[in-house]
Amino acid sequence: MLEIASLKQLLTQPQKIVITTHHKPDGDAMGSSLGLYNYLIQQGHHVKVITPTDYPDFLAWMPGNGDVLIYTTDTALAAKYVDEASLVFCLDFNTLSRINELGEVIRAAKAHKVMIDHHLEPEDFDDYRYWDINACATAQLIYTFITEELHGEKYINKDVAECLYTGIMTDSGSFRFPGTTSAVHRIVANLMDAGAVNWRIHELVYSNSSEERLRFLGHCLSEKLEVLHEFNTAVITVTSEELGRYHVKTGDTEGVVNYALSITGVRLAAFIVERPDRVKLSLRSKGEFPANEICKKYFNGGGHRNAAGGHSELNLQQVTDQFKSILPEYKTLLIQ
Ligand code: 5GP
Ligand code: MN
Repeated sequence: MLEIASLKQLLTQPQKIVITTHHKPDGDAMGSSLGLYNYLIQQGHHVKVITPTDYPDFLAWMPGNGDVLIYTTDTALAAKYVDEASLVFCLDFNTLSRINELGEVIRAAKAHKVMIDHHLEPEDFDDYRYWDINACATAQLIYTFITEELHGEKYINKDVAECLYTGIMTDSGSFRFPGTTSAVHRIVANLMDAGAVNWRIHELVYSNSSEERLRFLGHCLSEKLEVLHEFNTAVITVTSEELGRYHVKTGDTEGVVNYALSITGVRLAAFIVERPDRVKLSLRSKGEFPANEICKKYFNGGGHRNAAGGHSELNLQQVTDQFKSILPEYKTLLIQ
């Protein structure tokens, strides 16, 4: 691993930079990527943000969004940017498998790779690492990377601030998760002073649903929610037919699992969805319950203690049965 000081030195000269982030980018993925993008373009670098897949419309308003390349749509051009880059920033993920085929393109690239992330157990593919699992969002790390490592506070303009605010707001559950320390609130205050308008950003992200999305949510809660009282666990399963019936788009399923977790006494919630290529699980938990352990052990995934995900090649019914069959192993933790 190289010293961040030598990265700082590299960044004093214009570089060809690619910024990438994880599969199906969320608010923190896009916010940290475009926040860093809007910082670096002020220094004369050539910067391209490349996402492995598409991302929700409610994130498509951020400054710099028009310049983002989606790997699955613009594969050859995106691969060319990676090939020609001198630096690749990998944000909000720490294993190359999280970015699908783009992962091997980046592994093979001659560029130095910089990981900026807050997930557990990073894979060793990077040359520079700015990593802290205590950060509530990667966007928080981008803020401290810019201000504390690069001493670039004066470049935190409105564009940078709006993106980083979005990342911190979304990954902290609108400033309510335990990682939302007083230091986070101070950073957020600085971002507001730099031009991020808190209520407007919240509205753009959270009050921006299609009517169909809300009806889909209603369907999940009224028809598909199952509460396993014996295990203080709630499960919502969704078939591909239901995704089609409600015209569910990228991002529309985000947050549904949190409603299941909001039931009094429920400590673990699962959202299990039948995607075209595989079954995807999202787990959320309260307190000490290690949702990431279940994802890692059984569902080819991982994540944070209270928010984790994974996937399986089995069918929806099999995955749901498997998930339920695991619960007795965790019963003592679930019924405390
Ligand atoms: P979500 O449930 O919103 O898809 O993901 C929640 C968190 O779980 C993400 O922030 C990420 O840390 C983790 N996660 C989701 N899916 C996967 C996966 O397939 N592999 C790994 N390693 N982590 C995942
Ligand atoms: Mn994140």
